[in-house]
Amino acid sequence: MNYRHSFHAGNFADLVKHALVLWLLKERQERGPVSVLDTHAGAGLYDLSGDAVRSREAEAGVARLMAAEARPPLIEALAAEVAALNPQGGARFYPGSPMLTARALRAEDSYRGFELNPPVETLLREALAPWPNATGRAGDGYEEAARAARGLKAPLVLIDPPFERPDDYVRSAETAAAVLGADPTACVAIWTPLKDLETFDGFIRRLEQAGLSRVLVAEARLRPLNNPMKMNGCAMTIVNAPSGADAAAAEICGWTVQALGDPGGRAEVWRAG
Ligand code: SAM
Repeated sequence: MNYRHSFHAGNFADLVKHALVLWLLKERQERGPVSVLDTHAGAGLYDLSGDAVRSREAEAGVARLMAAEARPPLIEALAAEVAALNPQGGARFYPGSPMLTARALRAEDSYRGFELNPPVETLLREALAPWPNATGRAGDGYEEAARAARGLKAPLVLIDPPFERPDDYVRSAETAAAVLGADPTACVAIWTPLKDLETFDGFIRRLEQAGLSRVLVAEARLRPLNNPMKMNGCAMTIVNAPSGADAAAAEICGWTVQALGDPGGRAEVWRAG
């Protein structure tokens, strides 16, 4: 397991994912208590003065987000979270999905995140310590989330693998199907990189073959998808997408492409199945 999210934290793909997670959480909270399951939690909080300086991905992502003059509301909501962690200004600290979610929880909500890498899991537990209804646990998030979903009502599930293993697409689709099998009212959001169209098409076909419905695909293509060795964009695929998700995704992906993408980039929001 070589993947270290600390190199990628705060990049454009994190911005898309986290702005959408914030919206999904808020939308779900308007309808009652929310239980969040995070299959691949990561460290919870990132200090961008370390690994991220070497990758320069945060420089091209969250640093530009915080310097932007005009931000639409759903992007502004994420910027406000980053600002809250950096009272001196700037963007040295960046929240991962666990901390972003934990900060938004009400007394009746809960968060459970799973992490397989022991040192990262220790960081996760430390990051979540101030929030009693947010917990970080060791374990394989695919298996754990499918199991945990059986005991929850309408959970919101984030699947965010590193995609360093060839079976991450298959396991993501299988986990989404297992969660929806346990509770058809669950909402599952799966983050994927966009490198080439063939791989992504195969993933969407797999979701369709599993019979999953109300599938919304939110793509932020920063440049044309013609180099399979490069992350040319990213997508959030939301199964059981609530109403309003199309507009939310268009706002988030649209801003990201326009503010951070190359001239040939484009945002695509569409329904599969
Ligand atoms: N969701 C996090 C966020 O948005 O802040 C980022 C997660 S990062 C992309 C993926 C994480 O999953 C890494 O920390 C990696 O160690 C962990 N991981 C890899 N395979 C896993 C598995 N099967 N179950 C749980 N965690 C896993």
